[in-house]
Amino acid sequence: MGKLDGRVVLITGAARGQGEQEARLFVAEGARVVLADVLDAPGEALAKELGESAARYIHLDVGEEAGWDEAVAFTKRAFGKLDGLINNAGIAPRNGLVDTSLAEYEEVVRVNQTGTFLGMRAAAPELAASGGGTIVNTASYAALSGLPSLAAYAATKGAIVAMTRVAALELAGRGIRVNALCPGGVDTPMANPGGKVPRQEMDAYFGKCVPLGRVGRPEEMARVALFLSCDDSSYVTGQPIVVDGGWLAGPALPQ
Ligand code: NAD
Repeated sequence: MGKLDGRVVLITGAARGQGEQEARLFVAEGARVVLADVLDAPGEALAKELGESAARYIHLDVGEEAGWDEAVAFTKRAFGKLDGLINNAGIAPRNGLVDTSLAEYEEVVRVNQTGTFLGMRAAAPELAASGGGTIVNTASYAALSGLPSLAAYAATKGAIVAMTRVAALELAGRGIRVNALCPGGVDTPMANPGGKVPRQEMDAYFGKCVPLGRVGRPEEMARVALFLSCDDSSYVTGQPIVVDGGWLAGPALPQ
């Protein structure tokens, strides 16, 4: 028996990275998933690999209001209902505060923050109609601790943690739990564009400040997203769940 048997989950940013691993794990646990992304070729290929009875792909720019109504309607046409939403899509351009243009700042807000807001707003009525459900908003370690060159990104991730709390309060009565996954460094194209840096080097780099001595794997984020999307977390809502190898606990000084 799978932990998500019979559930239908919409995952944004599912064409690669953490979203891809979430899609793979959720299907393995019995869910049917709709993969949403702007990277159509890998998104479509992943849906095909997972099989039509378990996965479909839709093009969705999460920052576009109109696209969300269609994504939710598409999910209902494909699988009849919606039980879970993973707001995972995100962008993280790196620039110093004084070198960040207003256009870049606003684009990060549009995708990460507005996208998460629009997703929760579009999904909540359908989750309620299904008798309750779960929302996992992907925030970040950067919401809870400073990281240089990520002012816009950190601002949006802090906003996601704040919105998650409000949504949890407002939606609890309709049987909807809302939590924020806060990854530390994860070896995906976001932290390692093109996968150019070998895993060993990524581990060594993050190992300098992460107590567990390595970078996170996208599969490890997927397992926590699964926990937050299934009944194992039935008494958890409104929380930032930090998955960072102990990074936030403090610096890993030599012992
Ligand atoms: P990634 O770049 O591999 O994946 C992000 C996905 O989001 C991509 O498939 C991309 O095409 C999609 N996307 C980007 N803009 C979009 C838009 N407007 N509409 C729809 N889809 C869009 O990176 P990842 O590490 O898998 O990131 C997943 C989430 O985890 C993001 O929210 C990111 O901010 C967060 N996160 C990542 C790290 C890390 O170190 N990798 C750390 C903390 C938090």
